[in-house]
Amino acid sequence: MSRSESDDAPRVRETAPVAVGSEDRITDEQIRPSQLSEFIGQQAVVGNMRVFLGAAKERGEPLDHVLLSGMPGLGKTTLAGLVAGHMEVGFRATSGPVLDKAKDLVGLLTELDEGDILFIDEVHRISRVVEEYLYSAMEDFKIDIIIDSGPNARSMRIHLPHFTLIAATTREGNLTAPFRARFGIQEKLEPYRDEEIVEVLLRSARIFGLDLTDDGAAALACRCRGTPRIANRYLRRVRDFVQVQGHEVIDEAAAREGLDRLGVDPDGLDALDRRILKTVARAGGQAVGIKTIAVTVGEEERTIEDVHEPYLIRAGFLAKTPRGRVLGHRLRDDLASPAEAGDQGTLELEGTS
Ligand code: ADP
Repeated sequence: MSRSESDDAPRVRETAPVAVGSEDRITDEQIRPSQLSEFIGQQAVVGNMRVFLGAAKERGEPLDHVLLSGMPGLGKTTLAGLVAGHMEVGFRATSGPVLDKAKDLVGLLTELDEGDILFIDEVHRISRVVEEYLYSAMEDFKIDIIIDSGPNARSMRIHLPHFTLIAATTREGNLTAPFRARFGIQEKLEPYRDEEIVEVLLRSARIFGLDLTDDGAAALACRCRGTPRIANRYLRRVRDFVQVQGHEVIDEAAAREGLDRLGVDPDGLDALDRRILKTVARAGGQAVGIKTIAVTVGEEERTIEDVHEPYLIRAGFLAKTPRGRVLGHRLRDDLASPAEAGDQGTLELEGTS
């Protein structure tokens, strides 16, 4: 199983479509940690993974299947790649939404070598049929496919190499219990502490050749929602502001000014977050459904639920009830009181959510 490469970097043979623009994707690859030792924070998860990796390597066996859950941008894809590098095996990446036919899955699985890692991002979005094929692939390393149809239809068994599936999800609760049970290792990534985001920022700044002061990093970090991807994005944009102003250093003032110009306020909320909260505030205490929020703010439900709500809820600005969303215990001054809201009619698109 073990390969000749001594480097920790995974042999990436195919990269999944990731939800970033092409410019950001290039720089994303530059700053992605290439060794487990460069992965900042998540001590509990990384500590456990090191034990499981070490034990599997010692036995000369592939790693058990891994389920990584947590909000977007916390490092699930990065960690999966680092695991492949550490195990010195091949890494093949895809994502749930593009794996909708059994033949797509069979094609991927049959190209794997013994011990390789198949990474499926957004695994909660794979189709039911693909999920069922994965059951026997994960458990018995074989797949029975039906070839031909009608009277000629017959079943053919395909034996697969012993691979490791690493699946990532932002919605662990959406996975079926039998699917979840097939992952021997299940780890949840939590938002990073501000000090860890400072480390992420300083590391990225070093790679980009930017002069980011400690104060500048701290000023950025406290508005980054504990998410490395957001931190790196804000760093790139603040770099742009500093550059066009002819400055060379990102200090506290430059960081604050840049984030203000990006519309990111001291609570770490962006314009869309504030629109979501305003929509809920306008309901005057009534719960508001996700469909109503999506239509009112002009964003997809999935983006609101996966990207915006988790932080708003965690930070206490929003709460989820069985009937819909209400404001949380942290009230912001800028939220219109119900009396000020003029368009309550838009809030009645649905009953509950
Ligand atoms: P996810 O798969 O959870 O959406 P990614 O693995 O794509 O997140 O991480 C987003 C970006 O954040 C990566 O490009 C990487 O540079 C950075 N990143 C994530 N986690 C860490 C970490 N622990 N240390 C340093 N950088 C990180």
